[in-house]
Amino acid sequence: MSDIGVVGAGIVGLATAYAARARGATVTVYERGVPGNGQSGGDSRIFRHAHADPRLVALAVEAKEGWRAWEAELGTELLVCDGVVVLGPAAGDRLGVLEDAGIDARLVDDATDWLPILAPRAAPSAVGSSGAAAGPDAISGLVDPGGGVIRTRAAVAALARSLGEAIVADEVLAVRLLPSGRVEVRAGGVTVEHDRVVVCAGRGTPDLARGAGLDIAVRESVHVRLTFALRDGPAPRLACVLDTEAGAYGDPLPGNAHYAIGIGDTDQPGLAAEAERTVEYVARRFPGLEPEPVGVRHCWVTELPWGHDGIGVWEAGGASFVAGNNLFKHAPALGAALAADTLRVDLRPTAQFGAGPSRGAPRR
Ligand SMILES: Cc1cc2nc3c(=O)[nH]c(=O)nc-3n(C[C@H](O)[C@H](O)[C@H](O)COP(=O)(O)OP(=O)(O)OC[C@H]3O[C@@H](n4cnc5c(N)ncnc54)[C@H](O)[C@@H]3O)c2cc1C
Repeated sequence: MSDIGVVGAGIVGLATAYAARARGATVTVYERGVPGNGQSGGDSRIFRHAHADPRLVALAVEAKEGWRAWEAELGTELLVCDGVVVLGPAAGDRLGVLEDAGIDARLVDDATDWLPILAPRAAPSAVGSSGAAAGPDAISGLVDPGGGVIRTRAAVAALARSLGEAIVADEVLAVRLLPSGRVEVRAGGVTVEHDRVVVCAGRGTPDLARGAGLDIAVRESVHVRLTFALRDGPAPRLACVLDTEAGAYGDPLPGNAHYAIGIGDTDQPGLAAEAERTVEYVARRFPGLEPEPVGVRHCWVTELPWGHDGIGVWEAGGASFVAGNNLFKHAPALGAALAADTLRVDLRPTAQFGAGPSRGAPRR
């Protein structure tokens, strides 16, 4: 039976440990903080098929099966597929990639049928069956009906519960390859050898990789996502949204009474201005949301040079180091790939998995 050490109990580390244990391995997960409180923190993430790189579309398909398997195994709802609406110039391009992959996706004349909070608030007599105004106010877009929102807290909690005492509260300071081929973890209170170590430390991954002689170039920035209440109370169904013109996204929180919106990434001094820009955007674009935010999520973003959705896994002997952005939706598939004895070749950095548009330099 192999013995695997996993550094980090964010969604990727938890998924890796869960998959490794399902393969019969003994697992230890080292977490220096609270599981799921790093980049995986908060109440929701978008699950979308729509990506620029067809390999990401295929990974999302694989991951969706994984989410459904987790729901069955862990006994809790994790993925609510009320659709994802893509607005703006990339909608047409994404349609082609999705059609090539055999994903059900379509252009719609009125995306407000899927997301009524986009619609101008109509006088009662003008409200249609969807609650949205019709006619000249219609907003066209692409709909990915099989996409939706991930119940992130439920996912982290269920995986952490399942792993139980395999998660140890400790900070890893160094990961070292031993002449024997085994991998040493030096954590705060212990020095332990494992057959393999998988580093899923989010923002902490490049530091640990450097200690093992690997240079992972990650562009770090910070991000703010604000939460707004729906003006008319909870909606029965709410799609997620990607506005490719504004570079914004949004998703419903559990209960559908609140909606979270984020726009760009920035540097630390720019966070306050980015929050203001988000409030202005919501006032302009989402008439169905109250204009004052009621919640906030600040977080680090780690982007690889080949694209905003890029993913890569660096290997040195029995140690692997994963880096990338927008990993949450892919976690079941990514965890299975990281737990396998041999890494699939397309996740090696040379393959530039997830190549596509980058957000560019941090902006205020
Ligand atoms: C607001 C927001 C919105 C997002 N939207 C989406 C979305 O819609 N869809 C999507 O797919 N993705 C989205 N993402 C990105 C996604 O959430 C992240 O890519 C994903 O959560 C990263 O998970 P992770 O496990 O790699 O990292 P993390 O969750 O950061 O986990 C890493 C863990 O490692 C621990 N750690 C670090 N160093 C050490 C050490 N030396 N020793 C021990 N422990 C250590 C940390 O404490 C942390 O818990 C979003 C992110 C944010 C913040």
